[in-house]
Amino acid sequence: MPMQKKSSNIIIKGAREHNLKNIDLEIPRDKLVVFTGVSGSGKSSLAFGTLYAEAQRRYLESVSLYARRLFNQMSIPEVDSISGLPPAVALQQRRGGASARSSVGSVTTLSNLLRMLYSRAGDYPKGQGIIYAEGFSPNTPEGACENCHGLGKIYEVTEKSMVPDDSKTIRERAIASWPTAWQGQNQRDILTTMGIDVDIPWKELPKKERDWILYTEESPSVPVYPGYTKEEVQRAIKAKKQFDYMGTFIGAKRYVLQTFATSQSQLMKKRALSFMTGSECPVCGGKRLKKQALSVKFEGMDIAEINRKPLKELQQLFGPYARPVSKKDNPNTDHLEKKLVTQRIAADLDARIEVMLELGLGYLTLERSTPTLSPGELQRLRLATQVHSNLFGVVYVLDEPSAGLHPADTKALLNILDRLKQDGNSIFVVEHEIEVIRHADWIVDIGLGAGENGGKVIYNGPAAKIRDCRESVTAGYLYPETQSAKAKDKPERKPEQWLELEGVHKNNLKDLSVAIPIGAMTSVTGISGSGKSSLVSQVLVELVSAALGQKLEVTAPESGTDLLEQQAPANARGQLIGGLKGIKRLVLVDQKPIGRTLRSNLATYTDLFDPVRKLFAGTPAAKKKRYDAGRFSFNVAKGRCANCQGEGQVMVELLFLPSVYTPCPVCSGTRYNADTLQVTYKDKNIADVLGLTVDEACDFFDKELTISRALETVKEVGLGYLRLGQSATELSGGEAQRIKLATELQRTQNGSTLYILDEPTTGLHPSDVERLMAQLNRLVDAGNTVVMVEHDMHVVAGSDFIIDIGPGAGSAGGKVVARGTPAEISNNKNSRTAPYLKAYLS
Ligand code: ADP
Ligand code: ADP
Ligand code: ZN
Ligand code: ZN
Repeated sequence: MPMQKKSSNIIIKGAREHNLKNIDLEIPRDKLVVFTGVSGSGKSSLAFGTLYAEAQRRYLESVSLYARRLFNQMSIPEVDSISGLPPAVALQQRRGGASARSSVGSVTTLSNLLRMLYSRAGDYPKGQGIIYAEGFSPNTPEGACENCHGLGKIYEVTEKSMVPDDSKTIRERAIASWPTAWQGQNQRDILTTMGIDVDIPWKELPKKERDWILYTEESPSVPVYPGYTKEEVQRAIKAKKQFDYMGTFIGAKRYVLQTFATSQSQLMKKRALSFMTGSECPVCGGKRLKKQALSVKFEGMDIAEINRKPLKELQQLFGPYARPVSKKDNPNTDHLEKKLVTQRIAADLDARIEVMLELGLGYLTLERSTPTLSPGELQRLRLATQVHSNLFGVVYVLDEPSAGLHPADTKALLNILDRLKQDGNSIFVVEHEIEVIRHADWIVDIGLGAGENGGKVIYNGPAAKIRDCRESVTAGYLYPETQSAKAKDKPERKPEQWLELEGVHKNNLKDLSVAIPIGAMTSVTGISGSGKSSLVSQVLVELVSAALGQKLEVTAPESGTDLLEQQAPANARGQLIGGLKGIKRLVLVDQKPIGRTLRSNLATYTDLFDPVRKLFAGTPAAKKKRYDAGRFSFNVAKGRCANCQGEGQVMVELLFLPSVYTPCPVCSGTRYNADTLQVTYKDKNIADVLGLTVDEACDFFDKELTISRALETVKEVGLGYLRLGQSATELSGGEAQRIKLATELQRTQNGSTLYILDEPTTGLHPSDVERLMAQLNRLVDAGNTVVMVEHDMHVVAGSDFIIDIGPGAGSAGGKVVARGTPAEISNNKNSRTAPYLKAYLS
């Protein structure tokens, strides 16, 4: 009897996660299934929150007894049953978990292969013994340069860095690195007791005293008489006068190093870092490895040099070695063995790099650290890595893989998804991009609206048939003849002023000059890696903020090593010439998280929470108990739950597995203590209010003007489905960006602001995109300038002006290929954007 090819369906019954309305559906296996619907309709709740979560839970249950014991604490998706579900691999964009020490080489595992190649087939200098593969990694004791511990840089704390102005006295804070406020005064008073003159310029102090103050490892405790002069202290000690307290001195350098190493506060760490100077390690020349490892060569290069080459060049390098070796090549068996090893590793490297090139990532180098990659680039790297994992029978769940991709790159992405499918896998994709939806075998359309108004299956069937589904909003965009999705006519804007950039150098931009219209909407386009972000999010931001004297805010990174990586100074070279008169303020609306802790959420970020807390403090119950507004903050000790300190969750460590958060058992995740929760406003306590969606809160607070106005703007950017207390860690990059936009929109507009946006359509269904465009047009009509990096042709076609960067990626890009109005660009033969744009005009 012939083997029957089994390909049963996945059957889901009673899915109720988040806003899903108890839905039943059947999805085929081994197909490309696209989940669509407007933002907030429940696509992710179905694909990630239900299907992936359940697959993951079953997997953990099967591998780990320890994890099983925790399951009553881990959240189980709200669903009656799922059958036919294969094991799942998620390739998600949010919360990448990329650590600073991970790089393109490590996430793709190409670094492992390269180390093997160098270890087994590298050219060793005469007489040197073989080095094991780990010896080529700067992250192991075997490989790390002993001088810089594998960092490639030496961090020093010097007199110059701690005392930037030596004409100041200690009282005038000559030692800039000392702690601020009282603690700094304390150090000064201790030195006074020790007989050091704190009122003469630093440079006039004897060198021995200066060195002791800066570098001593001693920590003497002495009596302190605050405010006394040197002489008064001496007299007081002689007279055995009672001192205020005993103060302990700490050397200035030690204070800096200790703060950097141990402080819990990112701000303190950052401040400490600013007194450290980093310079290339002289021993390894910044290559991070021991001398012996660097002496091993392949094609005349050490492994660090290879790590700095773009993937594209690596393929040219390894390609020739990948061809099969025959015995005839070389009769010397010893040599043959080495050749065979080289051939095997090179073939593997070649095949893996090939996929990355297909996905348009050929411009990346192996040493590039993952925090500097965009979420889309990282997701595509992970995807490329999967193609060679030889897995089959699994379901890959992806989150908007087209993000960051020019339409010209999207084809390659689809090829890779097809390949994974042909290997016998199921592909589930949450996606808005029309080209990807068109490529699907099967479409699950969730809707109709967002949040409470969504959560239903509008369409579940073969892709082609969605056309007949009258109700589906998505169908209207897939078949625009039934419902026009073309750029609407809009008044033509004729810019009079231009912001001119000249001689720009950054990443792959080499001596680039470009003019950007003021008082207009500009889209910057180009394939992935062409240099759009380098121009817009880096150079333009740096130059304009410097010209305006506006400080750049950097979101605080999580760990000390992240800080070291980020310290790369603002280094865009270039000049701003005209047009600054039209710009008084710069606002960057990017996709960086608005906070990475459970402590920041939608309500706190948009400043909504202050008036809400005041409202609670004003209730009779709160007045009677003398509760002020601070009582209703989960960041203040008096009102919050003491067990979880207001986080609502507690962390559970799992052996060998990532730790998981579970709801705090004391406050059941409400974040507050029982006394605080007794106070209600319109029958809801503060935790209930944080549980409301923006839509619900709009009704609830309809009489409170400040609050409802803020809520309205959040609604207008399509986020009415978010809960007020939704913590920043649960937001996607696109949602974070729209919250920033909403916060900005509710500020009073006086024009003359330059808004810089990074792919604002991420996470947006075409119907949401129209709303976004209306918002942006309103900003421009009010006299502001909008410049954005964008791939969505609907937005690009609707802009006033386009700057197309390219033509290729990396060193093959970085030039202005074309600039002009959408109509002009669509006719430009050199622009790779033109053909896609054309379809949206006319
Ligand atoms: P989509 O993927 O279609 O944009 P989601 O599935 O993310 O939509 O969201 C659907 C609904 O579920 C929204 O109302 C959203 O606020 C809610 N939701 C999403 N994540 C969570 C969560 N972690 N906890 C509670 N509600 C959530
Ligand atoms: P796009 O935004 O068009 O995708 P980018 O501006 O991000 O392109 O990248 C242009 C080039 O600059 C690429 O070769 C990329 O690898 C390089 N590049 C971008 N950011 C960095 C960085 N932080 N460090 C090193 N190289 C970078
Ligand atoms: Zn070194
Ligand atoms: Zn608690």
